[in-house]
Amino acid sequence: MPKFLSLDGKVAIVSGASRGIGRAVAIELAERGASVVVNYLNSVGAAEEVVDSINKSSGKAIAMRADVSIYDQAQDLVKFSVEAYGKLDILVNNAGITRDKLIMLMTEEDWDNVQSTNLKSTFNCSKAAVKHMMRSRYGRIINITSVAGQMGNAGQTNYSASKAGQIGFTKALAREVAVRNITVNGIAAGYIETDIWKNVPEGMREAVLTLIPMGRKGLPEEIAHAVAFLASDQAAYITGQILGIDGGMAMM
Ligand code: NAP
Repeated sequence: MPKFLSLDGKVAIVSGASRGIGRAVAIELAERGASVVVNYLNSVGAAEEVVDSINKSSGKAIAMRADVSIYDQAQDLVKFSVEAYGKLDILVNNAGITRDKLIMLMTEEDWDNVQSTNLKSTFNCSKAAVKHMMRSRYGRIINITSVAGQMGNAGQTNYSASKAGQIGFTKALAREVAVRNITVNGIAAGYIETDIWKNVPEGMREAVLTLIPMGRKGLPEEIAHAVAFLASDQAAYITGQILGIDGGMAMM
């Protein structure tokens, strides 16, 4: 029986791991023994800092810049990981953005950018990863979605649609690949303290807090613990599920 929640010998890609939730996930997976590819887009210094801190604590990590919203770059990211570490066991589709506006003000670009970064990236990276996972008959894909995809948020038609899309994608892919011992799950995060909230007006953030039974924001590490569980051998019989980590905000 493998050690509880050990990821020894596993190889993981975390998209958007330079900051926020992805950063915490990369560190958590590395602490549990996985070799981690820290993907980033713009924050090269932050990504290098994540890699340094993992390597200094006897973990294994490398950074790779790739815009996962672009199909070819996502394929290259997976190729890079397989070349560097010889295989791929765990993919965490975490990269995401918001472009919040009421629909009357939302541009086509606001819509397209959010769909391609949040949803198309999930397809791009999963397609490339599944090819390797099918061959090795082992895989864990974890998609970081949101309560916005379950409840809908005013001012976030683009974001809510992309996150709901990830939920449908998770369930459909889980059915396709289950027989190959590949699990696909999602985490529907609530209000987690990261940069993604920095452009949201204070009044709106206060209003969101009132919707959370626990009355507080979550920490990126609280998402990372659940990712580690879903990535572990102990979660082998869990697939197609969306786990809410939101202080009780959306009870489905
Ligand atoms: P964040 O702090 O703003 O970090 C976003 C990360 O995504 C950064 O590392 C960024 O990289 C990366 N990224 C953005 N576009 C990318 C692209 N095209 N290719 C590669 N990387 C890209 O956001 P966060 O709060 O940690 O969010 C992470 C995920 O959790 C998102 O999918 C978000 O929707 C989801 N989520 C967050 C919350 C929350 O309350 N925080 C709630 C529900 C769901 P660079 O900095 O290098 O550009």
